[in-house]
Formats: sequence, C-alpha cells, structure tokens
Amino acid sequence: MQFEELQLAPAILQAVREQGYETPTPIQAQAIPAVLAGHDLLAGAQTGTGKTAAFTLPMLHRLAQEPAAKGKSGAKAIRALVLTPTRELAAQVEESVRTYGKYLDLKSTVIFGGVGMNPQIERLQRGVDILVATPGRLLDLQEQGFLDLSQVQVLVLDEADRMLDMGFIHDVKKVLALLPKNKQSLLFSATFSDEIRELANGLLREPQHIQV
Ligand code: AMP
Repeated sequence: MQFEELQLAPAILQAVREQGYETPTPIQAQAIPAVLAGHDLLAGAQTGTGKTAAFTLPMLHRLAQEPAAKGKSGAKAIRALVLTPTRELAAQVEESVRTYGKYLDLKSTVIFGGVGMNPQIERLQRGVDILVATPGRLLDLQEQGFLDLSQVQVLVLDEADRMLDMGFIHDVKKVLALLPKNKQSLLFSATFSDEIRELANGLLREPQHIQV
C-alpha cells in the first residue's frame, strides 16, 4: 500500500513525503480510509505505531475540504478537538498537526495546564480550526467562557486508557457533554478495560474496530 492510494489531498501527501515516510504503517492503512469515509473509530494501538498520523492526516483532509466555521466574534471556530492525557503528548500531537498541515490553510493551537493561561486565551481568541488539549485546562478555559465547542465536527481521544488511569474520566465526560451530538469520534487506546469500553459505547456510533 502506498500513501498515494489513500485519497489524501496533494498538499497533505507533499508534507508526508517531506517527512520521508515511504509507506503507511498498518494503523494508518486501516484508519485513514475509515476516517475519510466518515466512520467513528475504536482503535487499539500503542505509541510508536504511527497512530498520530493515522488520525491527523484524514482529520486534516476532512477539515481542508470544508469552509472554516465562524464563531460569535467572527474568528475561526474550533472544528476538531484532540484530547490527550499529558501536556507532552498534547504538544507532540499539535506539532504533528502543524507538520502535516503545513501546506493547508488551517490553524491549530495547544492548551495544557501548568503554564500561564493568557497566551492560550489570546491564541484561542484569534481563532483556530484544530485544538489539541488536556482535559483539565480545557475545562478551566471553557468555564471562564473562552472556548466555543459548539462547532466541533471531529473529536479524537488519544491514549484514552492513560487518560482514565490518570483519573481524568470525570473531566473527559464533562468535555464530551459540551460537544455537539452529531460529530465523528475517534478513540485510540493501547488497552481496553471495561471502563474504556463503557466510554466507547457511550461515545461512538457504529465504530469501525481496528487493532494493530
Ligand atoms: P506515533 O506512534 O504516532 O507516536 O509515531 C511514531 C513515529 O513514527 C513518529 O516519529 C513518526 O514520525 C513516525 N511515523 C509515522 N508514520 C510513519 C510512516 N508511515 N513511515 C515512517 N515513519 C512514520
């Protein structure tokens, strides 16, 4: 299987090529067509399998195909939300979004706890298409009125098992309650406990199951 067979926009393929990737990894070969087709996804994948590109590439493709959403202020509204358990992973995922999206007209930012809020608030107010966040800081900013999640079309829960292990289940559920019902949801996890399955059952609609 070649990247060119995956029906991704030429601007995305160009960025992938520049990374020196030759062929999609197994999780990418399975996830990319499913996400492009609009399916929800329940994916079992460890770090190092190429899972970040598996959700980022088709997410970028879908967002680039449609016009930007506008918030009340007239700035771009968030259309894709990626939740991660740690700030390191959030920063890494957002870096991948920038790398693979470098030839697209999409804006992204990352928010996490432990650092000042003001620069994050300013970037949100300038408008973003894609937000990568840890759940706690996301809720803080939402409660203070700095986040409009009403136009989210794609949700990714990355390393969902770690998110639950770290005690974020209530925060994650609070975030999910703020999102539109009608959206595409992708859940990535290295392991599947009963708690993950329950979360997945509540969130995903007829998901495609992928295990690598
Ligand atoms: P991840 O599992 O998303 O943390 O990715 C692990 C590493 O694999 C990262 O350094 C990526 O840059 C790299 N990677 C992702 N997809 C590919 C690919 N198709 N071919 C070669 N390397 C890749």
